[in-house]
Amino acid sequence: MSYIKDIADDFISLFLPRLCLACRSQLVRGEEVLCTDCLLAMARTDFHTRRDNMLEQAFWGRCIVERAAAFSVYNRGSRIRKLIHLLKYSGRQDIGRLLGRLYGSYLASGGFMEGIEILIPVPLDPARERRRGYNQSRCIAEGIASYSSLPVRSDILVRTGKSGSQTSRGRYERWENVEGLFTVRRPGEIQGRHLMVVDDVITTGSTIEACVNALHDAGDVKVSVVALAVAQKLTL
Ligand SMILES: [Zn+2]
Repeated sequence: MSYIKDIADDFISLFLPRLCLACRSQLVRGEEVLCTDCLLAMARTDFHTRRDNMLEQAFWGRCIVERAAAFSVYNRGSRIRKLIHLLKYSGRQDIGRLLGRLYGSYLASGGFMEGIEILIPVPLDPARERRRGYNQSRCIAEGIASYSSLPVRSDILVRTGKSGSQTSRGRYERWENVEGLFTVRRPGEIQGRHLMVVDDVITTGSTIEACVNALHDAGDVKVSVVALAVAQKLTL
């Protein structure tokens, strides 16, 4: 049967070539979303296969995280950076869903998703989300969810404060800047649950820290964290 399916796939791709999201070259059988060359060039972390990895360590002493992983490392000129730019600034929600689905398959096969019950995208500032028309972290969460069929809930963790730019601040100022930024609605629905916060890029970790702390403040929960990319300086 798989032989027939392969022929059918080849036949379909004659008319609808599947293209690599990063370089637009035609995908061959067995490749999904990204071609093998781009995948190899992507500086993937494999954090999802390692406990106490660098990203988990970056949160030690800041917030209680069960597991943390990021697909790739984010630096100037990196392919993941270009893709995330398209996702955030060019309306390419499909990029979030496709990369989310791809990463979701890695997370699932590595056992990272075990016990996770609800996916929670990092909320955007509501005014920014209205302008953009969507929350890119929700697109990524939906991609991961399509692989694991878990619920994606944007109505539990909400952004009720406003923060300025994080990049020019010191660590304490950044913490002060995001403290109280997030509020948990319907806390009864997350009691005893293992939640997974989903972000696009983890730059300083302050936003995630505030999300995780807000969720813990709301009750008895476990919280894990995933992102498409992590800034290189957080993994050194
Ligand atoms: Zn490619």
